[in-house]
Amino acid sequence: MKQLTKSDYHRHPCFNPEAKGLYGRVHLPVAPKCNIKCNFCDRKYDCVNESRPGVTSSVLSPYQAKIYMEKVLEKEPRISVAGIAGPGDPFANPEETMGTLRMIRKNFPETLLCVSSNGMGIGPYIEELATLQVSHVTITICAVDPEIGSKIYSWVTDNNIIYRGLQGAELLLERQLVAVKKLKECGILVKINCIVIPGINDHHVEAVAAKMKELGADLLNCMAMFPNVNTPFGEIPQPDKAAMKEIRDTAETYLPQMRHCTRCRADAVGLLGEDRTNEFRSCLSDCAT
Ligand code: SF4
Ligand code: SF4
Repeated sequence: MKQLTKSDYHRHPCFNPEAKGLYGRVHLPVAPKCNIKCNFCDRKYDCVNESRPGVTSSVLSPYQAKIYMEKVLEKEPRISVAGIAGPGDPFANPEETMGTLRMIRKNFPETLLCVSSNGMGIGPYIEELATLQVSHVTITICAVDPEIGSKIYSWVTDNNIIYRGLQGAELLLERQLVAVKKLKECGILVKINCIVIPGINDHHVEAVAAKMKELGADLLNCMAMFPNVNTPFGEIPQPDKAAMKEIRDTAETYLPQMRHCTRCRADAVGLLGEDRTNEFRSCLSDCAT
């Protein structure tokens, strides 16, 4: 296996703003199910942890993802990163996710691998992620206080048992904190996504930033919640630009901020400022059939 170096890591356009105009990413939509329920999420759409609402993505098997990757690289060789960001959670679909990562690592040794998860199920896979040289992982953490978490998550599931309220939020937080710590021990770059929800956790982002700094996270991406009328948080307005700037400026005293996130779909492809998702849609659906 080719050993990727720290200089290869700079080719990730999300973690390095300077790479934004030079390199792109492809999201491989291999993970349809989710293992938690966020109160801002409408599961008819992609995971809003990484993706903005849109049409539901085609879902690929690991082998189909490899074929799709070949076609994408043929037409867009500037793609440096293959990521898995849904449309559900990668580790609610661990066989598909790990199968895809193994397949991509074997066939595309130069490609950076990236995963975005809510952190609930990632724990048992972290060592293999490191072995596969998955260099970048995003964990979405909206609260480090289970009381606040219990307002954000209606349930979490583990081994076919559903946990609700405070119990669910406690379990999720415990998994998230262990995951961030272990990812860092394994030398993986960790970005934290925090969805900012007015009146629920907007006053709490500083505490999230402080805790994540303590655990060694590398980057924080504060994302304004998009209200969706079909969800329990449908009536909560989106935080405005001034509020987000203030939150990011405060959080920046703890951790570097990602300010160039374009909130890509689970099947996004292209450079961040030169998205080619629509152009590749038929290629994706051809590979999915
Ligand atoms: Fe939805 Fe993503 Fe939350 Fe799962 S983790 S409920 S897919 S927003
Ligand atoms: Fe990068 Fe944001 Fe797109 Fe994820 S959603 S690939 S962090 S730009």
